[in-house]
Amino acid sequence: IRFFDPATHAAMAARIALEADLRHALPQGEFRLHYQLQVDQWRQPVGAEVLLRWQHPRRGMVAPGSFIALAEDTDLISPIGHWVLREACQQLRRWADAPATRELQLAVNVSARQFRQIDFVEQVRSVLESSGANPRLLKLELTESLVLVNLADTLAKMQAINALGVRFAIDDFGTGQSSLAYLTRLSLDQLKIDQTFVASMLGSHTDAVIVQTIIGMAKSLGLEVIAEGVETEEQLAFLVRNGCRRFQGYLLGRPVPIEQLELQLASAVPA
Ligand code: C2E
Ligand code: CA
Ligand code: CA
Ligand code: CA
Repeated sequence: IRFFDPATHAAMAARIALEADLRHALPQGEFRLHYQLQVDQWRQPVGAEVLLRWQHPRRGMVAPGSFIALAEDTDLISPIGHWVLREACQQLRRWADAPATRELQLAVNVSARQFRQIDFVEQVRSVLESSGANPRLLKLELTESLVLVNLADTLAKMQAINALGVRFAIDDFGTGQSSLAYLTRLSLDQLKIDQTFVASMLGSHTDAVIVQTIIGMAKSLGLEVIAEGVETEEQLAFLVRNGCRRFQGYLLGRPVPIEQLELQLASAVPA
């Protein structure tokens, strides 16, 4: 019998160290936001998705894959998510002053834990109010699994937030327990086709059919559909051909700091 597994011990120690660092990250101002361009079928900018980064003092720039789950487990995600929302709304407010940027939307990821907070609706309302952002330009991205966990609570919160003017997208669509029955009941604006389908749709007939089905479903429900993870011209062409009108991915632009996003916006050739 082994009482002590060095590998497990090392992993636990690493997790505890990361958690300790994560607790300080917000007060010490170590979080950054990256923005990834979203475009229409003419490649004109329509907005951006806000993606969290952690500028760790020793580890360098850390992507959310390595800390979001930990932040969820420890409920550090709620204050972090609140901060992201505030920053995004302040950015919308700054954009409102210039004709070239005043219509751009920002999509913000909301974690299950943050959404389930009893005062989440109030949080959104007060952030909108204090920032002066136009609620119609704010889009909250929720996952299918989040939406389904407590449907009654979800419906009530989405309705209340939607009444403020804010829009909703279902992120990573197609990977969860999609059902037309629940989709029609949500105050939804957009379905976001998961990038795994986009990555494999040109090589897999099944995934191509899934993508076509999601686009058709969105159309019949009167929802906008956006494809994420678009990396090649071939993928873009396939999506356009099948009726998709919104795109995000490395082909159109990587997630970048705001200064770089604004350069991308400025260099977009007007239609
Ligand atoms: P997501 O919401 O599905 O975001 C898309 C991820 O795909 C991002 O990873 C983005 O950088 C990456 N991506 C974009 N275009 C491409 C592409 O063309 N090819 C490939 N292979 N990847 C692409 P990132 O930034 O590492 O974020 C990972 C996940 O972390 C996000 O997945 C989201 O679930 C979560 N996340 C990011 N920011 C936040 C946040 O502020 N709050 C919460 N709760 N979660 C966040
Ligand atoms: Ca997202
Ligand atoms: Ca996604
Ligand atoms: Ca994802």
